[in-house]
Amino acid sequence: MEIAIIAHDGKKAEMVQFLNEHRDILHHKNINLVSTGTTGDKVSKAGFKVNALLSGPLGGDAQIAARVAEGQCNMVLFFRDPLDRHPHEPDILMLMRLCDVHNVPLATNPATADLLMKSL
Ligand code: PGA
Repeated sequence: MEIAIIAHDGKKAEMVQFLNEHRDILHHKNINLVSTGTTGDKVSKAGFKVNALLSGPLGGDAQIAARVAEGQCNMVLFFRDPLDRHPHEPDILMLMRLCDVHNVPLATNPATADLLMKSL
């Protein structure tokens, strides 16, 4: 199973904390992580194996959206920062739209992500 993780700058520390809290389940369920670039750097420095794609503003969200559309990615954990502006907002909307088109579970905050992890 592949889970995509993306965290805006104000939420990257929370993403690392979230993954640490769910380290066992990620390991036991044999989950492959894919991420946007900078999120991936942070997460791999915390000791997680992750396939880091391009940074979000350079197309990383669009790459993950393509994986969702092609059925490669089964869940998206996207810790958005609603208090910040993002030059790649169209890509972000596209990713969320494609999750809805393909009925792929999408969490946009840690509380929902926690519930999704509990369902695995
Ligand atoms: P980043 O991208 O992980 O490269 O910072 C996240 C985003 O802004 O979508």
